[in-house]
Amino acid sequence: MRLKLVRHAPITGTLVLKSGTRVGGSKEDLEIGGMDNPVIRHPLTGVPYIPGSSIKGKMRSLLEYKTGQIGRDGEPCGCGQEPCLVCIVFGPHKTVKHNLGPTRIIVRDSMMTKKSESELEALRKEGTLYVEVKAENWIDRRTGVAGGGGLRSQERVPEGTAFDLHLSVRVFEDDKPEGILDFIKCGLKMITQDTLGSSGTRGYGWVEIKDLRVDGKEIDLDTFDIEEAIKPVLANLAGAAKERRRQ
Ligand SMILES: [Zn+2]
Repeated sequence: MRLKLVRHAPITGTLVLKSGTRVGGSKEDLEIGGMDNPVIRHPLTGVPYIPGSSIKGKMRSLLEYKTGQIGRDGEPCGCGQEPCLVCIVFGPHKTVKHNLGPTRIIVRDSMMTKKSESELEALRKEGTLYVEVKAENWIDRRTGVAGGGGLRSQERVPEGTAFDLHLSVRVFEDDKPEGILDFIKCGLKMITQDTLGSSGTRGYGWVEIKDLRVDGKEIDLDTFDIEEAIKPVLANLAGAAKERRRQ
C-alpha cells in the first residue's frame, strides 16, 4: 500500500458513568488512608481520569472477540494480514514486519468534564478526592458469614460522572475510512454494552457515550447496528481464510 497520510478524522463525545467505575491506579502514587485499590488520578490535581490505553484496550479486545481474531496463546491479534481490521486499526500485536502502515487509531486520555469536577467538589472536601469508597468482602461458603482477611476497600468514581472523549483516526490514501470508522463505532458501542475498568461483572464500569460525533457526523449509538456494520468485516476475513486454505 502507498503510505500517504491524507488527514485525521476526529471522534469526540462524552463518556458518562452509569455505575461507579474503577480504573486502577498505583497505590504508591497517592496514599489515602491505606486504600487497597485506588483509582488512577492526574498527578497534580488529583482528579480521576480514564487513560486512553484503557479505552483502546477494551475496544480492541471486544472487537477481537466479535471478529474471532484472537492471537496464539490468548494474546492480542498479531496476524498483521490485510483484511484484519483489528491489526490495521489498533496495530498488530508484537508483529514487527507487516505492510499495514501505522496504527490508525489514537485514543487520548479522557479527562473529567469541568461540570463533573465541580459536582464532585463535595467529595474532594470530605477528603476522598472525587471518589466513593466501597468496602467489599467474601462469604465463607461453609459458614455463610464474611470470610477471613476482612474488608477490602475499593475506590470508584461515582455514577453520573462525565469525561470528555477524544479520538483521532489517521486516514491513509488507500484506506476505506467508512469501514474503519464503522469498525470503531462497533468498538465504542460494545464498551457501552460491556464494561470499562475493573470488577465489571460485579456492577462496576457501566458507561454510556453521549453527543458522539464521528468525522463531523452526529452518531446515535443506540440505533447504530453493530451486526450490520460487522458483516462486511467478517465476510472479508472469511474470504481471506478460504483463500489461504486454497493455496
Ligand atoms: Zn490481526
